[in-house]
Amino acid sequence: MMDSVVGDDCHGEDFTVNELQDLAAQMMGKESALFVPSGTMSNNVAIMTHARHGDTAIVDAESHIYYYESAAISGLAGVMPIVVDHPTGCPDPEQITYYLQRNRNRFPKTSLLCLETTHNRRGGRPITLDRIKTVCQLAHQHQTSVHLDGARIFNAAEALGVSVKSITEHADSVSFCLSKGLSAPVGSILVGSNDFIQQAMQVRRRLGGGMRQSGVIAAAGIVALTKMVERLSEDHVHAQLIAKHLAEIEELELEPSHFPTNIVVFNSHKVGIAAPEFVEKARKKGVKLSYFDTQQVRIVTNSDADQESIMHAIDILVRLINQTKNTSN
Ligand SMILES: *Cc1c(COP(=O)(O)O)cnc(C)c1O
Repeated sequence: MMDSVVGDDCHGEDFTVNELQDLAAQMMGKESALFVPSGTMSNNVAIMTHARHGDTAIVDAESHIYYYESAAISGLAGVMPIVVDHPTGCPDPEQITYYLQRNRNRFPKTSLLCLETTHNRRGGRPITLDRIKTVCQLAHQHQTSVHLDGARIFNAAEALGVSVKSITEHADSVSFCLSKGLSAPVGSILVGSNDFIQQAMQVRRRLGGGMRQSGVIAAAGIVALTKMVERLSEDHVHAQLIAKHLAEIEELELEPSHFPTNIVVFNSHKVGIAAPEFVEKARKKGVKLSYFDTQQVRIVTNSDADQESIMHAIDILVRLINQTKNTSN
């Protein structure tokens, strides 16, 4: 990062940002890429580029776009979300056909279908290739674009045992995080066609996402893409270790195969404690977790935790759960 060759990215002159964008576009199998400060901005640049005020976009009820982005889809993009709930996080064709084929003289235009893989709030689950292909083709038949929130797309590819390109090829735009599992301190990437990214650059500017010597942070993004992708499987192995140990606690009724990537979720109510309270107890013992709601505790593995620390964390968590179980009985 200290040695990166920088320039003014607002003029397209930052060498390191350009290098990162070229690398990302090539890895994703798309014409162009745009470096953005966050995944949230990346999603909203995509939505504002694909859709106009007054349009609608189909989103999953538990998606990041709907759940975590402070209503940007409506507040910034002026787009009305059509919320669809499916346990896989990816809608069934039957759930969305009606909205796609509605008469555009009488109903708002459905410009966009948003998908998410792996799906955070649904346990880090990847959408299968078949399913992505089917819904993307359906959307395209109705002149609806597809934006894929692939914040953890490399985790999805790893879990499915497929190339990233075989996932991205069906979507018009894809966003992914250089931070999180790939371990860069800052940044996300949006990819799509040349035309799309050119327009997206204007939208990024409008949102204040144009940066100057951002090669300093883009340099870490290059490390993320060249050095950190291969080791994601370790995170998956670690998550499985955690899931298998938690599955031994019968009350949790946890099925390890439901957590094929780096996220494990369990319901702490089943052992008589609210999720925020459990998270606080674990934090005091040195294990950092988060929660989705009052019941669901979320555990994420990453490159900071090697197998030894994972085993140590499992030990602490299992003890804590057994303690709460016994006191609540
Ligand atoms: C983290 C995340 C984002 C947004 O990333 P930020 O950089 O935190 O804004 C978007 N989508 C999903 C699925 C995520 O997990």
